[in-house]
Amino acid sequence: PGPQLDFDPEKKTLVILGSGWGATSILKGLDTEDYNVVVISPRNYFLFTPLLPSVATGTLSPRSILQSTRYITRHKKRKVTVIEAEATDVDPANKIVTFSDNSGVQGQVWSTTLPYDYLVYAVGAETQTFNIPGVREYAGFMKELHDAEKMQDKFMDCIESAAFPGQSSEEQDRLLHIVVVGGGPTGVELSGELHDFLEEDLKHWYPELADKIKITLVEALPSVLPSFSRQLIEYTESTFKEAKIDILTKTMVKEIKEKSVVLAMPDKSIKEVPCGMVVWAAGNTLRKVTKDLIAKLPEQDNRRGLIVDDHLRLKGADGIFALGDCTATQYAPTAQVAAQQGNYLARILQHIAKRDHIQKQLDVLAAEGVVDAPEKKGEIESLAKQLAKWEKLRPFHYSHQGSLAYIGSEKAIADLPFFGSGNLATGGMITYYFWRSAYLSTLFSLRNRTLVATDWMKVKMFGRDVARD
Ligand code: FAD
Ligand code: NAD
Repeated sequence: PGPQLDFDPEKKTLVILGSGWGATSILKGLDTEDYNVVVISPRNYFLFTPLLPSVATGTLSPRSILQSTRYITRHKKRKVTVIEAEATDVDPANKIVTFSDNSGVQGQVWSTTLPYDYLVYAVGAETQTFNIPGVREYAGFMKELHDAEKMQDKFMDCIESAAFPGQSSEEQDRLLHIVVVGGGPTGVELSGELHDFLEEDLKHWYPELADKIKITLVEALPSVLPSFSRQLIEYTESTFKEAKIDILTKTMVKEIKEKSVVLAMPDKSIKEVPCGMVVWAAGNTLRKVTKDLIAKLPEQDNRRGLIVDDHLRLKGADGIFALGDCTATQYAPTAQVAAQQGNYLARILQHIAKRDHIQKQLDVLAAEGVVDAPEKKGEIESLAKQLAKWEKLRPFHYSHQGSLAYIGSEKAIADLPFFGSGNLATGGMITYYFWRSAYLSTLFSLRNRTLVATDWMKVKMFGRDVARD
């Protein structure tokens, strides 16, 4: 049996899968009077991903960059049902979603189904491993909150073990070598944050070890940040050089072992490099549930993601919209795109609710057999006119606001479409505060802004905490 949910039978059921950038933007803009709204996500909170690397280095507390989904839905006009569960299957033919509670607290996995009229599919992506041996066993990721917390823990483990009395110099070098794989924005920002942690705090707490800490960024392509302009790439590379972060380009990680990484070097030679910790930031791949959905729809033939039309309707399925990192569109998989798509869909769903309401009135008249009755002519014409007005949906239009990345050493790069050549690469306090205020102003709630600003102030006054629980 399906779950007992308190639904208004007059309204259609809108199920939203996910609680990330896309799903949360819809929830913010949606008029919940229009539907019975259900949110299903294995994470009962929204995560502000741009600041995740700051959690990994202890600059921010994990709680500061998350916001409970119930906190968001609590302020809506009509009740929204939030279910902490993972969608395991979507049946587009019968319009049913299956989901499971994997918490394990009841000693077993509970699974159930829910029929939908409209489904918003916003489950994001997971980290791509290319099935490279050892990645899942020995490397950490930088995708979810627990990844950042685990990394912070492991990093401190490496440092404390290196500080253990009698530790050999060779083993110290290994433990204090951090390898970041992937020179995309995630890998670059994380390396920059690690460098700041080292310069601003670790040098004071572990003066005898600080000089031995080494950060290596490995990138398979000829440069880091391939989506940024040449000028910004060079600025980043020279900043990293000064910061003593080694960049290995045209270098591919082939395997990760317990205490080393195996690299295919630009000259095709294979080199095994000892290290204490590896962080894997090599891009996105689709989740299993998305791959399964693609396999069910003959119209879906792109292995990069779900194909949607200009209105974010899933090709080949009725009543499903898809957005964000799980889709294959002309746009990069960014928070900026997912958030704008979410805003757009919130408006479209309102539009569709109006259209459905008029259609329902026409269907009732048709069922009563009065469509041809002369006394109903005026009413039917008026409804048909309104329906025609709501029939036409505006397509999604993306407005690029620029890309911004923090590269450590109080420096940031920005690719701004409205700023001269578009490239802004500066350092010093102004950029630093520009970067920070840009993030503060896009953080979703006053609560998060306050928490993040307080964390930054605490770090300025007392430094990052190197103690662990
Ligand atoms: P997500 O935000 O990932 O949300 C997916 C949601 O689906 C999550 O709530 C997840 O729990 C849920 N989910 C997963 N599986 C299921 C399931 N089976 N059933 C139901 N729900 C499920 N982009 C920028 O534009 N600027 C930045 O500065 C930036 N910085 C980033 C930093 C880091 C470290 C990372 C990892 C990414 C960054 N991005 C940035 C990219 C950005 O985070 C993504 O593009 C964005 O999160 C995509 O939004 P989404 O809604 O598609 O997916
Ligand atoms: P990405 O796909 O942008 O970069 C991953 C990099 O890893 C690629 O350059 C790839 O060549 C490299 N790589 C893959 N396999 C490798 C291997 N075996 N050895 C060495 N290198 C390997 O991934 P990302 O940085 O996580 O970013 C994902 C998305 O999120 C992007 O769209 C990005 O723009 C967005 N994002 C934006 C920001 C920002 O704007 N500040 C920050 C983080 C992420």
